[in-house]
Amino acid sequence: MTTSLVPSHLARNYHPLPVVLAGGENSWVRDTAGREYLDLLAGYSALNFGHRHPALVDAARAQLDRITLTSRAFEHDLLEPFATRLAALLELRDDDLVLPMNTGAEAVETAIKAARKWGHEVKGVPADRATIIVADGNFHGRTTTIISFSTDEEARAGFGPFTPGFRVVPYGDAEALAAAIDETTVAVLLEPIQGEAGVIIPEAGYLPAVRAACDAADVLLIADEVQSGLGRTGTTLACELVGVTPDVVVLGKALGGGVVPVSAVVGRQDVLGVLTAGTHGSTFGGNPLACAVALAVVGLLETGEHQARARELGAHLAERLGAMVTDGRLVEARCAGLWAGIDLDPRHGTGRQLSERLLERRVLTKDTHGQTLRLAPPLTIAQDDLDWALDQLGDALR
Ligand code: PMP
Repeated sequence: MTTSLVPSHLARNYHPLPVVLAGGENSWVRDTAGREYLDLLAGYSALNFGHRHPALVDAARAQLDRITLTSRAFEHDLLEPFATRLAALLELRDDDLVLPMNTGAEAVETAIKAARKWGHEVKGVPADRATIIVADGNFHGRTTTIISFSTDEEARAGFGPFTPGFRVVPYGDAEALAAAIDETTVAVLLEPIQGEAGVIIPEAGYLPAVRAACDAADVLLIADEVQSGLGRTGTTLACELVGVTPDVVVLGKALGGGVVPVSAVVGRQDVLGVLTAGTHGSTFGGNPLACAVALAVVGLLETGEHQARARELGAHLAERLGAMVTDGRLVEARCAGLWAGIDLDPRHGTGRQLSERLLERRVLTKDTHGQTLRLAPPLTIAQDDLDWALDQLGDALR
């Protein structure tokens, strides 16, 4: 096995598996010794189209020869096409807006700022009283404001003081959520399927009931689709699975196809419109290189073939994991498209230990916490490769 280099200056804010990667193509990656591994994590769903998808690499290369950064002090020729094509892909309303940023957390912060300002200016909630309802087990990023409403103690410990204005309710309980709405509530911020919590899929009636509660109280529904969006669940957005249209959607990860960091907040004109000139921005948000790659990502999703592939291979994945539940090798498998959270029996060790055993078998995975592992292969993975990896998983659990 490859041993990690021990760089003396690298901050240790991660606990990576002992492998040092140096190359990758589609669902396979290579370490510095040339050993190949099948990637079943896919950059936490950023690599939905695999490593170095030719269309994305070509788009980036071509853009490197044109212009890479203008800053938003000046417009560039890909900003409007990016907004137009993303809006068409997501079937946005005619006057909806697209606001490009860089990372998932930054886009979530943007949505929070927009919702608060909308609450003050449009809904008349007094300044400094706006509250946003969030769910237990949420993961929306690592900024100080976002961890202020995290329910993961490790993510919060030592980082206070925190940002006020958030109320946590149980995930999956629409009644508790509706009961938490009061005159200070401006928005509900949810993952339609919770990713970092271990691919937690609420009952089909949950999001529609949340939508109804939001409508009844004139509260915004913000869907964080940073991990669930852009094909992963077999639909372009996970919200489509239950027929819910959020007021605001947050995208990230796969929007840059693992080639560039790019995120976006999309949604209602009256909400994103409160972010008037001079009130919010980012040097790199919507830069030409990011837009070029994101446009190519939109192009891949426009055909619908990746969503279809996620449904087909996802059904196969669910069947194979279901068999491992039936024969006692797994406690539970939760699947949505080509995305799964699997819970291990403690006699098979922790999720981390299973990831380490799978690494030895040349399969890359990552535990989400404790006894839970997430599988999120590229949507472009070959079925034979997926089957081989599932054989390795099955053997590692024997
Ligand atoms: N929202 C969700 C649902 C996520 O899964 C993540 C990342 N795991 C984020 C936001 C934060 O994205 P980033 O790491 O790009 O800031």
